[in-house]
Amino acid sequence: MSDEPVVIIGAGPAGLAAAWECIGRQLRPVVLEGSGMVGGIARTESYNDYLFDIGGHRFFSKIERVNRLWQEMLGPDLLRVPRLSRIYYQGKFFRYPLECVDALVKLGLLESLLIVVSYGRAQVRPSAVEETFEQWVSNRFGRRLYLTFFKTYTEKVWGIPCDEIRADWAAQRIKGLSLMVALANALFGNARSKSLIDAFDYPARGPGMMWQRFQEEIVAHGGTVRLQSEVIRVEHGKGLVSGVVLQEGGCLQTIAADHFISSVPITRLVQLLEPPPPAEVVVAARALSYRAFLIVGLIVKQADLFPDQWIYVHSPDVRVGRIQNFKNWSAAMVPDAYTTSIGMEYFCNTDDELWRMTDAELIALATAELAALGLAVPTDVTDGVVIRQPAAYPVYDRDYGQNLKTIKDYLTIFKNLQTIGRNGMHRYNNMDHSMQTGIMAVENIRGAAHDLWAVNDEEEYLEEGKAAGIGRSVLESILVQSFARMDKVAMATAIGSVCGLLVLAATLWISSRDPNPAASHLRLLAQYCIGYTVTVQGAFVGFAYFFFWGFLAGWLFAYLRNFFLAVYLFHLKKKSALLTVKDFFDHL
Ligand SMILES: Cc1cc2nc3c(=O)[nH]c(=O)nc-3n(C[C@H](O)[C@H](O)[C@H](O)COP(=O)(O)OP(=O)(O)OC[C@H]3O[C@@H](n4cnc5c(N)ncnc54)[C@H](O)[C@@H]3O)c2cc1C
Repeated sequence: MSDEPVVIIGAGPAGLAAAWECIGRQLRPVVLEGSGMVGGIARTESYNDYLFDIGGHRFFSKIERVNRLWQEMLGPDLLRVPRLSRIYYQGKFFRYPLECVDALVKLGLLESLLIVVSYGRAQVRPSAVEETFEQWVSNRFGRRLYLTFFKTYTEKVWGIPCDEIRADWAAQRIKGLSLMVALANALFGNARSKSLIDAFDYPARGPGMMWQRFQEEIVAHGGTVRLQSEVIRVEHGKGLVSGVVLQEGGCLQTIAADHFISSVPITRLVQLLEPPPPAEVVVAARALSYRAFLIVGLIVKQADLFPDQWIYVHSPDVRVGRIQNFKNWSAAMVPDAYTTSIGMEYFCNTDDELWRMTDAELIALATAELAALGLAVPTDVTDGVVIRQPAAYPVYDRDYGQNLKTIKDYLTIFKNLQTIGRNGMHRYNNMDHSMQTGIMAVENIRGAAHDLWAVNDEEEYLEEGKAAGIGRSVLESILVQSFARMDKVAMATAIGSVCGLLVLAATLWISSRDPNPAASHLRLLAQYCIGYTVTVQGAFVGFAYFFFWGFLAGWLFAYLRNFFLAVYLFHLKKKSALLTVKDFFDHL
């Protein structure tokens, strides 16, 4: 292992994946973590031996190396969990992802009919203006479906009315299945939705177990993970970072290195740089924001409250957005099987009244709301705990793209500093993509030239292709060939020529070989082709007739094939659009 350390700021999934990759590549990782535990947003907190996630963390990835890494780290401790989740809406629990019959029964015939009519109207007469989330969704799925399944929950998560959320954010979030992916699915089976919806992996003692194992392995192989080590300054000069200043137990210490990898929120990184960046970069960083998240853990004196891992709460009467039942993720999340630990999840901003409420007030609110939803009686709630996560969701507001670009452009001057992860890149990355950026950053140190900003969900469709055992170019060429439009005149000319030439050749052959060609079966063609005889002259008449009929048949065939293909593609497009709604809330 090289003596020169690679300094990694942050021990979340991205930082730890980078550190582990360093070990594999003979580099010495020094991970500096400001808090007292590893895992970042994907940590597991413990309260009186009850374990809580910061939002349930499903382990699911299309990236093979990440899946392998998870398996290698935890082996049998990585459980396969069959998924059950529902939506609470108007006093009823709808299976989620939505199922047609279930939704129909629970919404009732009249409401279902109104949804279908409103969907049809949106298809025929969509609104010409499409600037907001509300307009975007209503245009695609109908206003009624929007009001039923989109509005309330989306507003709870983002804290702003749907008519103030921009349409391009919706397009970005609901892009899940492009037509290309739908076509790939049609050809190779619907791998994505099946695997996302049906089951996922989960460590027996919550996601924190995975990150603790990473920490142990990194340390066992010569790396360093320092907790309670907050980086308070990143010093630089001449386009290179020279060192970081960290605060550990009241003492300051400087660590120098050749390479630095940061997973701290990019806005914070800008503040840490010394000397400070130009004013426009500081302004851009100030303009980027995050949505916060808090979870109120309740201990309930009941063995079985409900069977779901989580419930989305669409009801506007309560403030809770999602409810976790941790023992349904893994039985080891509770120390006593006769009790249940519930996570009441609230989305908010750090200057909201909700965020400023005391723990006791939040526990009282969560208990009352759990009871209002009919999921438990208040007297069964024996204890509670509040866990706060300030920067949970990077906000994609109107100007975030430009602001992020300003910061990114500035950071490119540093030849030995890479930013990775979710908040490190102000990206909606899940654990797998966060880890992927960490791994690639280390590969860059070893000479690769990865663009970390290119790591995102777009890759999923490629991964599907890989799952089907084929590469991108092959997949694309198969799709392009299979679904290309047929040229009607070319098809008609080809079929006409083949038919005409067959008759020409057969007539010439018989008329030159048969001693009595006029008696051959071919003469019967005269019944359909007036003027046809089994002679040299008749061969050309036959050619003309059959070229004409063949041309007509070929043209019609190509026309019908194009027509039905267009109908099929339209159907696929609509189906893929509807399919994205099926698990929309999983990606919100
Ligand atoms: C509610 C919720 C549910 C989610 N569910 C899923 C899911 O089901 N599946 C999934 O794959 N992903 C999920 N995610 C996303 C997942 O949590 C993130 O992708 C992942 O945690 C990002 O890892 P990271 O290392 O980039 O950042 P983080 O997890 O944010 O880690 C960054 C680390 O840097 C440390 N740090 C910050 N500043 C400093 C400093 N100055 N000095 C030292 N250390 C510092 C922090 O303490 C933190 O430990 C969810 C996220 C949320 C909010």
